[in-house]
Amino acid sequence: MSESKRLFFAIELPAPMQRQIVRWRAEHFLAQAGRPVAAANLHLTLAFLGDVSAEKQRALAAMAARITQPGFTLHLDDAGHWLRSRVVWLGTRQPPRGLLQLASMLRAQAARSGCYQNPQPFHPHITLLRNAGQGVAIPPPGFLWALPVNEFVLYESVFARGRTRYTPLQRWTLGNTERNSDEV
Ligand code: ATP
Ligand code: MG
Repeated sequence: MSESKRLFFAIELPAPMQRQIVRWRAEHFLAQAGRPVAAANLHLTLAFLGDVSAEKQRALAAMAARITQPGFTLHLDDAGHWLRSRVVWLGTRQPPRGLLQLASMLRAQAARSGCYQNPQPFHPHITLLRNAGQGVAIPPPGFLWALPVNEFVLYESVFARGRTRYTPLQRWTLGNTERNSDEV
């Protein structure tokens, strides 16, 4: 039997946008505000799957490939601090319908496959800081990043030598009527 992997579906941020976000974060948050997420790890989770066997991964990939919906544009125009989870995040005031539909389909498919089921409603966000202290001031987002989203990605998350790394395993194009699953 093959070992399971810790997986999640997410939207990838292009490297230049990751760097821009990190620059903005460095300008607006003190070093002691919280633990910064590494630039390459900045992403928007659509569905967290937990530990998944190879067989279940194949089933999830087959279901993901059946998703047909157009792409959408994500406007990152909001930031906030969740006190309970101690997360400082970047997000959007008006999540596009396409984003909500995509997350909802992936989460429903994950639930049908017996994967981890998130009891929380979907709150699209990009985690910027973890273990954020109570008093962290959240700057008004004096910026607007528009991210055209044309694909979604299945990531493996591995924690090794004190750090978490995400590896893209497979990606699917949105707005494409042909079936596709590009092995990365
Ligand atoms: P680490 O846990 O090692 O500090 P991480 O949270 O980035 O780092 P994972 O725990 O593997 O790495 O999480 C991968 C993605 O899935 C992240 O976006 C994380 O917020 C999300 N995630 C992890 N656990 C859950 C969960 N129980 N419910 C919902 N989303 C989760
Ligand atoms: Mg985690």
